Amino acid sequence: MQATNEAEILRAFMSKAGGDIFQLAKDLGLRVIRDSSLGSKSGQIEFDGRGFSISVNALENPKRQKFTAAHEIAHYVLHRDLLKREGVLNRHTDTLFDGAEKNEEAPLKKRHEVEANRYAARLLMPAPLVRSLFSSEDDNVDKLADLFGVSKAAMKIRLANLGMRAKGD
Ligand SMILES: [Zn+2]
Repeated sequence: MQATNEAEILRAFMSKAGGDIFQLAKDLGLRVIRDSSLGSKSGQIEFDGRGFSISVNALENPKRQKFTAAHEIAHYVLHRDLLKREGVLNRHTDTLFDGAEKNEEAPLKKRHEVEANRYAARLLMPAPLVRSLFSSEDDNVDKLADLFGVSKAAMKIRLANLGMRAKGD
């Protein structure tokens, strides 16, 4: 029942561009904390024995915060069982340039970071919408970045990964 609900919530969010990612987190039942004391961390996800909360570094730029929120939501959707295991860390922290935990005991490894980043990109820039709105003739990257509320760099990477635009230019 809850799973169906969750799938529906995610599907609805991904059916339109530029949705409120923080509201999505709340709709999924996550507690959202905008934290200005995270230092060099971009965000984290934590299980307190009952529920999950995500923290986002409030001092980073708004687009970065959105991507962090999407990344933490991705951990919740994809990896929550790993974070719920008993006897291991139930907090996972992400930093800007090195998303992977150094601690080998940590439940989430590098491949989970790659998965979370991929899922975050899908959440913020769903492929069918990007495909229908991108014009290779106009190369309307700026417009799409605005529409989806992401950085131009993030949109370029997404378009390249979807094979719709050359990498990097
Ligand atoms: Zn992560």
